[in-house]
Amino acid sequence: MTEILALPAFDDNYIWLLRADGCVAVVDPGDAAPVLQHLALSGDRLCAILATHHHGDHVGGIAELLATNAVPVFGPAAENIATVTHPLAGGEHITLPGIGVEFEVLAVPGHTRGHLAYYGPSLAGTGAVFCGDTLFGAGCGRLFEGTPAQMQASLAKLAVLPAPTLVYCAHEYTQSNLRFAAAVEPGSIAVQKRVEDVAAARAAQRSTVPTTIGVELDTNPFLRWNAPAVRSAAASRLGHVPTDDVETFAAIREWKNRF
Ligand code: ZN
Ligand code: FE
Repeated sequence: MTEILALPAFDDNYIWLLRADGCVAVVDPGDAAPVLQHLALSGDRLCAILATHHHGDHVGGIAELLATNAVPVFGPAAENIATVTHPLAGGEHITLPGIGVEFEVLAVPGHTRGHLAYYGPSLAGTGAVFCGDTLFGAGCGRLFEGTPAQMQASLAKLAVLPAPTLVYCAHEYTQSNLRFAAAVEPGSIAVQKRVEDVAAARAAQRSTVPTTIGVELDTNPFLRWNAPAVRSAAASRLGHVPTDDVETFAAIREWKNRF
């Protein structure tokens, strides 16, 4: 049985830690300190590192971890990350050494050129996906290196995972994202309910991650390019009816950038 633990880092990052039989793998260790502290306190051994993309808040701690732990580092082939030992393009199946968990590697470009997501269908009884800065609670990453068409296609790959799949995003952004979701779909009862649930969780200092694909399909405007309310919100931004899902997505993303 693999446990999944959160190590908070910086202001709002999560470093995700998978743990089985005294072995741990970490996803996106932007900072080595919380990981090293976990290893010291638990006696666990580090067995693998997974990186979703090249931003410093996701890979900044890798070199320091490798200094005392010689472990494989899985990460995007299309990005310049010097510490990656197992470059991946998407489409691969990998098995984490020591932990035995299998992941399907998904190419999800948009936030960055080579961004990866790691989908573990056997995790947690429901399946789990580690998606870095691609999909957030009620939001999605900014398009730093990719096009709206790439990001919409990447989000569509995540949207077709089974609804109960747990979504492990790399940031705690849900509450502020929901303010935007409520502006896009002011009539949505699902969004209003989630606003209340998330406000209660944050007031109690609880994490809003993991979320699930099902919750995101109901409330995340960046997965709802088919919803009439989202299409009409896009139309009023654009001044014309969007011609396709990419144009809807692009208009909503553009609005969020200015929100
Ligand atoms: Zn990022
Ligand atoms: Fe980030």
